[in-house]
Amino acid sequence: MSLIAGNWKMYKGPLETAEFCRVLREVDLGDADVVVCPPYVSLAAAVQALAGTEIGVFAQNCHWERDGAFTGEVSAAMLAELGVYGTIVGHSERRQHFGDTDETVARRAAAALEEGLHVIACVGETESEREAGDTEAVLRRQVSVLEHDDNLVIAYEPVWAIGTGKNATPGMAQEAHETIKSLLDVPVLYGGSVKPGNAAELCAQHAIDGALVGGASLDIDSFAAICRAAH
Ligand code: PEP
Repeated sequence: MSLIAGNWKMYKGPLETAEFCRVLREVDLGDADVVVCPPYVSLAAAVQALAGTEIGVFAQNCHWERDGAFTGEVSAAMLAELGVYGTIVGHSERRQHFGDTDETVARRAAAALEEGLHVIACVGETESEREAGDTEAVLRRQVSVLEHDDNLVIAYEPVWAIGTGKNATPGMAQEAHETIKSLLDVPVLYGGSVKPGNAAELCAQHAIDGALVGGASLDIDSFAAICRAAH
């Protein structure tokens, strides 16, 4: 399989989302499975604009309870009600800035899967962890809390490669993906400064099942070029 997911982070409100999705449905995306992950407030616009296509809409996070006193959070049940197909959990920006831990990431993933959503769970080492030779130990720790599920995909996103323009070499990514796959037999996406120019080489690695794309997914031409490059 080859899955290309565009993580829009905190970009594109509902109007821009609707316009982007209207164009996305018309462009050549090749053979890849494609999903977009807009901010919460833009999910409904994306679901509506992409209705009747094979392009899935994912959220960027979800809470583990169905409802309750959790100000600012959104549950998996609410996402499912909206027609959202899946969700990212454990993105390194959530771990870094919003206190997500291996335990909360596992709870978010389990709740979303239980609700019937697909899940992209992010793992990856920081620069200092890699320099200290701890990459494998970090991946083992982060993956060990997740359980196999047919609807679970892992994204290997070395933190030092996200939004920095530095990307893991295909060999580095391949090694990390093999470690992850030895722990959990699920598809593994690579994420970290994927661009039209490096997508084909990365996606050609046998342990790389697609890409989670941040910055380059915000522009329709570069996102479509990445989708076409991944086969
Ligand atoms: C991401 O946000 O998951 C990501 C990989 O970002 P970028 O492609 O911009 O490095």
